[in-house]
Amino acid sequence: MKQYYTCFSLMQEKYDRFTRDDRFLAATTKEFAVWKEKTRTLLRELTGMNRMLLCDAMPVEEEEELTKDNIIRKKIRIQTEPGVYMPCYLLIPTENRRYHEKNKKPLTFLALPGHLGGGKESIAGRKELPGIIRSIEQFHYDYGYQLALRGFTVFCPDCRGFGERREEALQGEEEEKYLNGTCYQLSHMAEALGETVIGMQAFDVHRLIDYIEQQGIYDMEELGCIGFSGGGMQTLWSAALDDRIKRCIISGYMYGYRDSLLELNGNCSCNYVPHLFEHLDMGDIGALLAPRQVVIQSCLDDHLNGKRGISNVYEQVAVMRQAYRLFDKEDRLVHDIQGGGHCWHEEALSALLKDA
Ligand SMILES: [Zn+2]
Repeated sequence: MKQYYTCFSLMQEKYDRFTRDDRFLAATTKEFAVWKEKTRTLLRELTGMNRMLLCDAMPVEEEEELTKDNIIRKKIRIQTEPGVYMPCYLLIPTENRRYHEKNKKPLTFLALPGHLGGGKESIAGRKELPGIIRSIEQFHYDYGYQLALRGFTVFCPDCRGFGERREEALQGEEEEKYLNGTCYQLSHMAEALGETVIGMQAFDVHRLIDYIEQQGIYDMEELGCIGFSGGGMQTLWSAALDDRIKRCIISGYMYGYRDSLLELNGNCSCNYVPHLFEHLDMGDIGALLAPRQVVIQSCLDDHLNGKRGISNVYEQVAVMRQAYRLFDKEDRLVHDIQGGGHCWHEEALSALLKDA
């Protein structure tokens, strides 16, 4: 074939014509509150979250073990939609445990998984499992365990499509199945029903927060949420739609949609929400986090930043910063920039937890 007749240019043109109709433009905190409410309603509609079904969590506690670092790794499971179950590790440090100064409850985080780490297994630092050690070395994926080593109580769930929640297509113990996820299959089932993978994943995170809240023993005043890559995506969306998340780290997941999702159109299907580009860019969703404490972590050579590199990140963080400026809380939004490619760096923890 001498020539290909693609849609690519027209798609770029359409993107430029029909984008960001509902962008963040508020000039006062009052306008921000109105925009935030309207935008949240829109996002729940676009992601299909408003079609998802509430149910009893029916929590089950499974086995627990003590790691060599004296961290209790307990396995629990909750129901998030009828017949849909979320297994989760709960990491409880036995030494130097951190508590909220006033209410004496343990300081608690959610640590959410991205792709290629076997779901919760890499986040919870299960280096003894095949393949997991390499994921941890490549992406520094054990950030849940890193938090526990710093004395925090950490929930490390499997998100839909990963770990024990893989759909039939990738079930099995072979490494290429075990480390991967079934976003593709989930999105095919979901989108024709008006739902999306990111909607399902954020909905589940909110149900896990319901569970944590109902226990009554964890600090909810400083509940944190962290994630890298697909875990950063879940953190962004979960926090954008739920103020119970008080502080978060979004690593390797903040960039403009045109360069990073339209032009890098081979990215995983979990990133794509029908009609989203028409309404918002990623920085607008990030603006919903203002004025909460947030660290955005970016790597200079991350290929997911797109062809313009870190400029495509700066533009979105600038949108977020405008929202923080309205509250005179710009210091609560930190942009931590690291060298190298797509990877989590523990400096994000130091930036969020000044004494960590
Ligand atoms: Zn995915």
